[in-house]
Amino acid sequence: MGINYFTPQYEVCRDPKKCIKCKVCMRQCANEVHSYDEELDMMVADDSKCVDCQRCVSLCPTRALRITKYKNEFKENANWTQQHITEIYKQANTGGVLLSSMGNPVPYPIYWDKLLINASQVTNPSIDPLREPMETRVQLGSKPQKLEFAEDGKLKTKIAPHLELQVPIMFSAMSYGSISRNAHESLARAAEELGTYYNTGEGGLNEDFYQYGKNTIVQVASGRFGVHVGYLSAGAAIEIKMGQGAKPGIGGHLPGEKVGEDVSKTRMIPVGSDAISPAPHHDIYSIEDLRQLVFSLKEATAYTKPVIVKIAAVHNVAAIASGIARSGADIIAIDGYRGGTGAAPTRIRDNVGIPIELALASVDQRLRDEGIRNNVSLVVAGSIRNSGDIVKAIALGADAVYIGTSALIALGCHVCRSCHGGKCNWGIATQRPDLVKRLNPDIGYKRLINLVHAWDHEIKEMLGGMGINAIESLKGNRLMLRGIGLSQKELDILGVMHAGE
Ligand code: SF4
Ligand code: SF4
Repeated sequence: MGINYFTPQYEVCRDPKKCIKCKVCMRQCANEVHSYDEELDMMVADDSKCVDCQRCVSLCPTRALRITKYKNEFKENANWTQQHITEIYKQANTGGVLLSSMGNPVPYPIYWDKLLINASQVTNPSIDPLREPMETRVQLGSKPQKLEFAEDGKLKTKIAPHLELQVPIMFSAMSYGSISRNAHESLARAAEELGTYYNTGEGGLNEDFYQYGKNTIVQVASGRFGVHVGYLSAGAAIEIKMGQGAKPGIGGHLPGEKVGEDVSKTRMIPVGSDAISPAPHHDIYSIEDLRQLVFSLKEATAYTKPVIVKIAAVHNVAAIASGIARSGADIIAIDGYRGGTGAAPTRIRDNVGIPIELALASVDQRLRDEGIRNNVSLVVAGSIRNSGDIVKAIALGADAVYIGTSALIALGCHVCRSCHGGKCNWGIATQRPDLVKRLNPDIGYKRLINLVHAWDHEIKEMLGGMGINAIESLKGNRLMLRGIGLSQKELDILGVMHAGE
């Protein structure tokens, strides 16, 4: 037997004075970390299997458990960190690509945290959202350059189909397959009650979810899983996925073990087969090709649904968005490099793409400069963590945001970044029936509603503080932002002044 080069990442600390040997941790851990040693009459743990999902810590009735970083340290080296060395061991063992999930965890700058929001003082008085009406409804879709009216006062201009959101927040694309049925149901029901939208992702739409169609965005990705005319017609809008923030430039892979009966029926693929979506759409190699798909989808749905084109934030994102805005698309969704995923090659997730804040500012500016900003609405995604991030996104030019990871956290996710293993102990990123049932959609959807209501209220308070009573008046209003600790180049791209100016 070869040498085991690995040291565990985490250490399970159990207080023997508190442990009552109830075995809850053993039953709850799908990674089989905990076991009961009959000879020693005590609970023991295999640290090497722990992914730090915190399920056992949360459910231990006596608070006997704590997960800490494993204290063993390799010789200090700023270049060859323990992580770099361990990853080489892994690849030398397997010869395989390293897989990860959720968003990019590398400590690149987070621009949301380097932007500060304005507030009224003395002139332009602030508004109290508890006493005065405050509008956070948003319409997404292509807007006409000007309105024409007939002599009788009726509108002559034909308005393109729109999405109406009661809050400026939608739930990001997460496929049934990458997340569980109960997670999907929680999102669908919450979207319906909130008056917003959730997104099927690339996994098709299970027939049980057609009832939520008017709050559903159906996605068409390169694999075209589950796409048929009934599916396209079932949703309120259609999203063409060209790219995803967590893995720009590559396709997707849902392992066969996650493709059970129900997922196979929804995706229209055999049970147990890997669902591999190619990196490109094999019919799109130019903006003209994209335009053909946009209009094929509009034709298939009798021009009743807005079409969204989703792209990853990459180096020349403004030029790409400019092309998309001329393709007939109604909405552009831009996903930043911190966007989550059920599975991605680690190197891609951690090294490819750009921050959503910079991408958004440059896209909004380019579309304005070219006089085509009204052709499309902009929706941004990729680690929106709180209502402050949303207010900053709107001020930088977004019409609305997508939230994915935040929504999963509301459902109980502890961001252990192990979704690709399919053994999510919180019942979210798994298809194992015993784990799926741990997430109760009756509770899950209420938690999502609570989160969005709380954020909507906070957005209203921040708007009121700025003396603004409608979110539309904040859109692209970069004077409401100031940068802190940013270089002149960064300030120029963001289009904001430095704090103190
Ligand atoms: S759940 Fe807590 S009390 Fe129960 S066996 Fe595990 S550590 Fe001990
Ligand atoms: S969804 Fe589950 S597996 Fe994925 S990061 Fe969250 S807790 Fe971990």
